[in-house]
Amino acid sequence: MWTDAGAPAGMPSLFERGGDLISFAGGLPDLDLLPLEELSGQLARLTRLGGRIALQYSTPHVARALVPAITDLMAREGGRPVAEDLVPTAGSQMGLLAVALGLGTPGETVLCQTPAYPGATAAFRTAGLLPYAAPEDPEGIDPVALRATAARLRAEGRRVRMLYCNPTFQNPTGATLSTERRHHLLDAAREAELLVVEDDPYGLLGFDGRTTPALQGLDPENVLHLGTFSKVFAPGLRCGWIAAPAPLAGALRRTTEVMALSPSAFAQAALAAFHARGGWDTLIDAYRERYRERCGLMADALDAELGTDGPWRWRRPDGGFYLWLRHTGGADTAGLAPAAEQGVSFVPGAHFGLDGECGDALRLCFSHVPRGRIAEGVARLARVLRGASAAGPERRVA
Ligand code: PMP
Repeated sequence: MWTDAGAPAGMPSLFERGGDLISFAGGLPDLDLLPLEELSGQLARLTRLGGRIALQYSTPHVARALVPAITDLMAREGGRPVAEDLVPTAGSQMGLLAVALGLGTPGETVLCQTPAYPGATAAFRTAGLLPYAAPEDPEGIDPVALRATAARLRAEGRRVRMLYCNPTFQNPTGATLSTERRHHLLDAAREAELLVVEDDPYGLLGFDGRTTPALQGLDPENVLHLGTFSKVFAPGLRCGWIAAPAPLAGALRRTTEVMALSPSAFAQAALAAFHARGGWDTLIDAYRERYRERCGLMADALDAELGTDGPWRWRRPDGGFYLWLRHTGGADTAGLAPAAEQGVSFVPGAHFGLDGECGDALRLCFSHVPRGRIAEGVARLARVLRGASAAGPERRVA
């Protein structure tokens, strides 16, 4: 890409707010649950007692004080990080770009679970990598077909070394790969010599508190795990990590150093202090409970407004931030963009396709919509979607 003057791969703009708009677009956590008083005391103490270190440049290593906080989070999903192989990031978005730039070679193909988080595909494309849909069946990535796809692509002369997936409460579908499927997938990835890149921001946000074993814990030597504090704490600190297989940690560290010199020592120290004081349980339980409630309200409102036998289909997720709607008649949701005029926003499905697929789908985020606004937002959405259903066939003929 360095010789190509083209614009870098873009991202949908998700965080607009204001006016009477009810936004179901961006994946924002509900920060009403953050204990701000407690936090401000901790930050004041940190600045007073450790400010000269915490506000200085640091090295591209996870601060020793933060390691227990990461280990605690990952262990809840059976993850087994090794402290020396943790690489700090300013959130998983940076982690994705670091993986793409540090481990990929321009022109290389990356197999991706689809629909895919657009930030991942944008990161891959920005590094000159070529996203390619991993084969799927109704249970998720299909391990048997994966081996065949990797072999076919290589026979065609393509270089393929990585498989990207977001296996738990996936953005955008909310789907989770079963434990059994995870084992088969990991076997297939090893056989096909594919490094698995596990993007896992939502794994601890199951509504009933249950977790599914992280791929990293099942095969630490062949899984690179991207973790983040954005959804279990707050995205404004821009703090995350890569738990890398040992041989890859050095290259990733060097790449993150080029990207940001050093991680935010202050953010790392703040998170370490928060964890040391009270652990994660209270905050994560509160987030889970809040999202369970919001998801239930949104799904109930969708049932009431769109019915269960109409053209729009969705599954109630068991965790995470998102609901994924599909139109059985193939309506084009990008054409519904003026939905904002109706006072509601969402992300059209085509953003999650590698090449414009999923145009008949849309993603709704329930995590930060005020409780009392969900039914009204869904009523507005339903007005927009009813228009789509009527217009769909005409558009296809045209
Ligand atoms: N991966 C996925 C699947 C996401 O949904 C997000 C944020 N929406 C990210 C990575 C990036 O998150 P952050 O950079 O805040 O850690």
